Amino acid sequence: MTELSEAALDDLAELYRDLHRNPEPPFGEVRTAGIVAGRLRRAGFEVATGIGGTGVAGVLRSGEGPAVLLRADMDALPLAERTGLPYASTVTAEDAHGERTPLMHACGHDMHVACLSGAADLLAAGRGGWRGTVLVVFQPAEEIAAGARAMLDDGLYDRFGTPDVALGQHVFPYPAGTLLHCPGQVLGAAETLEVRLHGKGSHGSQPERGVDPVVLAAAVVMRLQTVVSREVSPAERAVVTVARLRAGHAENVIPDEATMTLNIRAFSPDVMRGVLAAVERIVRAEADASGAPRPPELRTLSSFPATFNDPDATERVASAFADRFGAERVGDLAPMMGSEDFGLFGSAAGVPSVFWGLGSAGEEDAPGNHSPLFAPVVEPTLSTGVEALVTAARTFLGEPAGA
Ligand code: ZN
Ligand code: ZN
Repeated sequence: MTELSEAALDDLAELYRDLHRNPEPPFGEVRTAGIVAGRLRRAGFEVATGIGGTGVAGVLRSGEGPAVLLRADMDALPLAERTGLPYASTVTAEDAHGERTPLMHACGHDMHVACLSGAADLLAAGRGGWRGTVLVVFQPAEEIAAGARAMLDDGLYDRFGTPDVALGQHVFPYPAGTLLHCPGQVLGAAETLEVRLHGKGSHGSQPERGVDPVVLAAAVVMRLQTVVSREVSPAERAVVTVARLRAGHAENVIPDEATMTLNIRAFSPDVMRGVLAAVERIVRAEADASGAPRPPELRTLSSFPATFNDPDATERVASAFADRFGAERVGDLAPMMGSEDFGLFGSAAGVPSVFWGLGSAGEEDAPGNHSPLFAPVVEPTLSTGVEALVTAARTFLGEPAGA
């Protein structure tokens, strides 16, 4: 059974709109986790909550056979929604700095949750038709690259066993109802670094008595612009962005430190290593050049590995989708510079993973992920996402004896 009834689809659409109206921040997905856990229990899954913070895992066994992991992420983004949808979010939450920020499901993780919840129901209802183990994982904090790691570090596989394949999907602004594949590397790596530059404070009229961290920071910002332009081959892709720069409070005081947050992206892991080394070299050398009293401190705030799709497993999923949905609804996904932590579920288990795109756009030029206008159309996105997860899972699960 891989098809949704009309009543089941209505129920899932209501779940989707409810999740959309009630977004939660990374590691704050308490309500979402509670809803998901309740639904899994009702479907007959053995459920554990609070894994790696707010993560939920559900396991369903049907005899001997391969174990398939299906993953959805649950967190929203600090963004004020401007879609004007009747179920738009008006929710705010306190951020790490104690400031109130708006929240929005602007990356479609609400759709991922609704789809996986529906897929879990179908797999449970059709349990007689497959053999093996289904492990559904609802992870927290994808947007800050922390949730998958947290669940794995909290013993996800010790408690539920190691899967034979990891499967996941993500909504993107491709035509709704389409499924997109990219064998090999699909997403790049990303690192967020915090840099603390130490200077020596003094009176604004006496620069000779201090070491000005503002001038030091300015030199660092300018010199960092040469990393991609002068140290990375034009054939490669990388970005170094100084996303945040703070120093000083008073107009007549030279401050004693400056802090900056750097967002660094590269498609290839090798290029990422080179870029990170260059960034660190420049930050340290500029601090030296300024005569900083102490070396700068660099701290990694988040780290996304690159995401790779196993080519063989991807081919199996793509051909199962073509059989199930028709070849016209299955297409290619271009590799993207964005990042994900989904790949950790496969790499931690040493097994193949497949991450496909789920088209969610109702019109051409629909706003993309992370836009305050991002608005997946509920249908056919939802039913396609549910049935795609079930179809992909069934591709790897065993057949019952005599089938
Ligand atoms: Zn996102
Ligand atoms: Zn996302």
